[in-house]
Amino acid sequence: MQNPNNKVAVRYPPSPTGNLHIGNIRTILFNYLFAKHAERLGTEASMIMRFEDTDKERSKAEYEQVALDTLDALGITFTDGPYRQSGRTNIYIQAIQKLIENNMAYEGEKSKDNSEDRVIRFKNPNKKITFTDAVRGNITIDTTDFGDFIIARSFNNPLYHLTVVVDDIDMGITHIIRGEDHITSTPRQILLIEALGSSIPQYAHLPLIIGSDKKKLGKRHGAVTYQEFEKVGYLPSAIINYLALLGWSEGNDREFYSMEELEKAFTLENVSKSPAMFSYEKLDSVNRHYLLQLPDTVYEQEVQKYLTKQIQIYLDTTNKAVRHTILHTIIKDRISKWGDVQNVCNTELSWLKNTNQLNKEKIAWKESSNEATKKHINNLITLLKTIPKNKWEQVTNREATFTIKNTIWEYAETIGRGEVLWPMRYSLTGEERSPDPFTVAFILGKEETIARLELAKSLL
Ligand code: GLU
Repeated sequence: MQNPNNKVAVRYPPSPTGNLHIGNIRTILFNYLFAKHAERLGTEASMIMRFEDTDKERSKAEYEQVALDTLDALGITFTDGPYRQSGRTNIYIQAIQKLIENNMAYEGEKSKDNSEDRVIRFKNPNKKITFTDAVRGNITIDTTDFGDFIIARSFNNPLYHLTVVVDDIDMGITHIIRGEDHITSTPRQILLIEALGSSIPQYAHLPLIIGSDKKKLGKRHGAVTYQEFEKVGYLPSAIINYLALLGWSEGNDREFYSMEELEKAFTLENVSKSPAMFSYEKLDSVNRHYLLQLPDTVYEQEVQKYLTKQIQIYLDTTNKAVRHTILHTIIKDRISKWGDVQNVCNTELSWLKNTNQLNKEKIAWKESSNEATKKHINNLITLLKTIPKNKWEQVTNREATFTIKNTIWEYAETIGRGEVLWPMRYSLTGEERSPDPFTVAFILGKEETIARLELAKSLL
C-alpha cells in the first residue's frame, strides 16, 4: 500500500467550526498511527496539520487553538503546518484557472442576485468512478447524478471539494484516511484530481462511531469533545487507548495499548467495516486500568484536585496512615475517573464530618429489637475500650483494623455478624453504604468511634 517513493504523507484536516469531537480525534489518531507505523518500518512519513476554514462565518481561531491543545494533550504530533486554507486562496485560483483553460470548468450563473460574481462549475465527464478503499474494498459510483457541480462561489471563494483536492495534491498526500461520511465526497474529488492531472491517493474510510442506540455519536449521548472528557477526569492515555479500539483491533481481544504499542501494531488492514459502538462504561473501565497504574505521588497530586473542601480539610488535620487509607484504599477502590471522586466524598465518605445524623429506626439490624441492639452496642464499647489508643491510632490501617476486628470478632460471631456489625457501621457513619466498620473505626480514631457508639446507644 505504500507508494513507490517510500514516503507516506497523511493530513489532519479539521474544520475549525467547533471543538474537535471524538470522531475527529479518532480520525486524526488513525492517521497518526498509520504514519508512525510506516515510519517504524523505515518509510519517511509526514503528518500535515491543515485547518479547513473555507466556511468564513463559522470558522474561528479559538477552535484552532483548542484543536492544537487537544492534540498536544493526547500526544498526537504532526510534522508540517498548521496550514490554513484561508491563507492559500491564490493556489486555489490558479487551479480554477487551469481547469477553465483546459475546458474542464466554466463560469456559471451569478452566485447571488445582486453580485457580479459567477460560480465556477466543474464540467462533469459523467462517468463511473471506481476506487479501492483500504477498508471497504472496491467502490464504484456513477458521477452522472452530480451534474456540473460547483467548485467555487467565485474565483476568490473556492469550496470544499476543490480546496481539499488542491491541498492534497500540493502537499503530496499519499493516504486519505477519514470518516465514512466522506465516502460520497470521494468520486467528486477523484474527478477533480484527474482533471488536475494528478494521481489518486490511497483512500481509507473509517467506520462511523455510534452510541448505544446505534445512531451516530452526538451530544445527547454524553461527552463528545476532548474538553468534556477532560473535565470529567479521563486520562489522555485511556482516551487514546479507547479511541484506537473504535474501529480497529489486532484481531484478538487485547484491550490495553500504550501509544507506542499502537504505533507498532496499527495497520489499515485491521480497520473494521462495521460501525464502532462507543461505550462510556467501557471507557470508564479502560480509564480505571490506567488510573491504577499511576505512581502514588502522581495519583495523590491529581486526586486532591477533585476532593470536596470538607474532605480536603479533614485530610489536612489527620495523620499519614489515615490519609493514605482514605486516598488509596477508599477512594481509589471506588472510582473509574477523577470525576467520580466528588461523589465518593459525598456518599461513602460523608460520615467523616462530625454532624452525621443517625436515623434511630436504622440502627438495629433487620428484625433485631432496639433493646438487644442497645446491649450489643454497649458490649462493643466495652470491648473496644480495651484497645490501647496507640494500637489504634499510631499504626497502619492494616494493623489497626486487624486489632479492632480481632477484639470484637468472637462476640460478633456468637451473636450474629449482622446484629453486631450493622449497628456498629451504621452508628459510625449514618450511611447505609460505607467502607467496612473496622476501617471506619480506624479512620475515626478511638475516641470518636466510642463517642459515636455512645450517641447511638443513647438514641435507642
Ligand atoms: N474538513 C473536513 C472535516 O472536518 C475533512 C475533510 C477530509 O478529510 O477530506 O470533516
